[in-house]
Amino acid sequence: MKITFHGAAQEVTGSCTLIETGEVRFLVDCGMFQGGRGADGKNHAPFTFDPGTIDFVLLTHAHIDHSGLLPKLTRHGYTGPIYTSHATADLLDIMLRDSAHIQQSDAERAKRKRRSHKKNGRRQSTDPAYTIEDVEAVLEQVRGLGYDEPTTAHDTVRFQLRDAGHILGSAIIEVWVCEQETERKLVFSGDLGQPDRPILCDPTLIEDADILFVESTYGDRQHKNLDDTIEEFISVVTHTLDDLGGNIIVPAFAVGRTQEIIYYVNHLTRAGKLHNINLFVDSPMATAVTRLTMQHLDLFDAQPRTLAA
Ligand SMILES: [Zn+2]
Repeated sequence: MKITFHGAAQEVTGSCTLIETGEVRFLVDCGMFQGGRGADGKNHAPFTFDPGTIDFVLLTHAHIDHSGLLPKLTRHGYTGPIYTSHATADLLDIMLRDSAHIQQSDAERAKRKRRSHKKNGRRQSTDPAYTIEDVEAVLEQVRGLGYDEPTTAHDTVRFQLRDAGHILGSAIIEVWVCEQETERKLVFSGDLGQPDRPILCDPTLIEDADILFVESTYGDRQHKNLDDTIEEFISVVTHTLDDLGGNIIVPAFAVGRTQEIIYYVNHLTRAGKLHNINLFVDSPMATAVTRLTMQHLDLFDAQPRTLAA
């Protein structure tokens, strides 16, 4: 078995792992590079493998640093299935369209810039890595699955998705690969949620693996205790609204974090710890994701499910 990392190696974005045996070639994730100087160049560079030779793709979750180059994969010849959870499939519809839109407007801007600074302009790609047509093609290739549903992807490969508790639909993937009559179990953590967070369930405990692939964005950082964070949130909000008569702007990721903030404002208001809050979500994408989240109550922890009902 040959395993190569085509992203998220010595950096935390662009997750893309290629697994090859004599019988099969498949990818786990196909993420976009985000942030940093070289990201645009890497997103536009040709793949270092031939997308047309990949048999299938397993996708851990919808965040763009894990899913964002799927349309580029299809644009360059990939025609096979993309296996992921039902909720991730729904999120991709929102997130990849948004990503294609950003790609296209960035390319337009780069074109205008190049025209106005013909000689000195920094070389930035004037073609989008992919377009909305490529996204439409990807969405046709996506196969939504439930958690804990054993699935055969190839004569020699079976897998199942386990709840990773990171964002809606996120999965740890257990994969069994058979090579020369020996079966080995690979586990891809994807991004992992923290236990005891609201809304989503805790990450599933995986009992064994022959090879374990762990994503670790915050591996060297100690997270603050959740109760302390909530107390700090209450005190900042109360001080700003009541003592200073001000407003609060919370920059928040559209997927996951925005829904957590809405949950806490609601929960803390019901518990009498916050008062008179008018909450505005100023993001069409976050609003679409919140609506989608409410359609997947089956994936929630027990307490938020009761609150949402
Ligand atoms: Zn993620």
